[in-house]
Amino acid sequence: MSPRLVRMRRLLDNATASSCMADVVTPAVRSRMMAGIRGKNTKPELVIRKGLHLQGFRYRLHRRNLPGRPDLVFQKHRAVIFVNGCFWHGHDCPLFKWPTSRPDFWREKIGQNKVRDARNHGKLSELGWRQLTVWECALKGRNRHPAEDVISRCAGWLLTAERDGEVAGNEEGISLGLF
Ligand SMILES: [Zn+2]
Repeated sequence: MSPRLVRMRRLLDNATASSCMADVVTPAVRSRMMAGIRGKNTKPELVIRKGLHLQGFRYRLHRRNLPGRPDLVFQKHRAVIFVNGCFWHGHDCPLFKWPTSRPDFWREKIGQNKVRDARNHGKLSELGWRQLTVWECALKGRNRHPAEDVISRCAGWLLTAERDGEVAGNEEGISLGLF
């Protein structure tokens, strides 16, 4: 490619990137965009992975052959853990705020994600997998818990026969909500 063409390409890329970003400019939203819509390998996910590994749990990551590609798969416990970003998965919590620009786009997008989550949940249940959802707000924001509490909640859930559950941030202290 000629140097001139390379320069033009770069200009075009920058222009495209900045116009996309300009639509959703709040820093909070931008940082969520950077984490990626599928939200793999996010910081909360790494905290959970590291903590459970230290406690001796072994797992597979993002197995493609399971509905929803669960973040952590515990074959031995027939259990999966999802670490969900509160924005992308539309969690009803203080970390979730509708973006002010392009409201229709975001309502459709988040709505689709929620429908997909519910569908995957149903498919996994049919296949006999227990499911725990750890929401981002359990580890981040004003309602967060100490990471070790969240990790021990996950460990406790793995070792029992409890069915599906979720761990979210709240003001009263940690609890394991069951579906
Ligand atoms: Zn949340």
